[in-house]
Amino acid sequence: MIRKISPRTINDDFRRKVKEISGQDIQQCFQCGTCSASCPMGRMLDLLPRKLMSLLQFGQSDAIAAANTAWVCASCHTCMVRCPRGIDITKVMEAIRQLTLRQNINRINPSEIPAEEVNDMPQIAMVSGFRKLTS
Ligand code: SF4
Ligand code: SF4
Repeated sequence: MIRKISPRTINDDFRRKVKEISGQDIQQCFQCGTCSASCPMGRMLDLLPRKLMSLLQFGQSDAIAAANTAWVCASCHTCMVRCPRGIDITKVMEAIRQLTLRQNINRINPSEIPAEEVNDMPQIAMVSGFRKLTS
């Protein structure tokens, strides 16, 4: 599907904040797709990293917020290592998560996790997950 982009749908504030928090020049991305081809989480992502970078360049905050990409990203740094433009996409993903969590919007609610699942979870994974997914 071709997404129509009009100047009114561009969220420049979101784009500016992602750049500020991540320290990355997202406009340097030239859409080569190396990040998407390298991502080990690719099959799980609503938007592959290249697509996310493209939407970010156009300030498409709603589409990015609706996608699971920033939350499922495993922060493995593969995309960052292989990006020919030296963009640290992992930091971009972190910035997108931060902008959501700063609105007190949690990706998961710890109190809704069934007790039997909590008992099976490694404690360090739980702490790590809560730090990533809750405000
Ligand atoms: S590897 Fe880098 S330049 Fe290529 S699409 Fe991904 S972010 Fe853009
Ligand atoms: S850091 Fe995230 S987006 Fe980049 S390759 Fe790893 S899982 Fe994929």
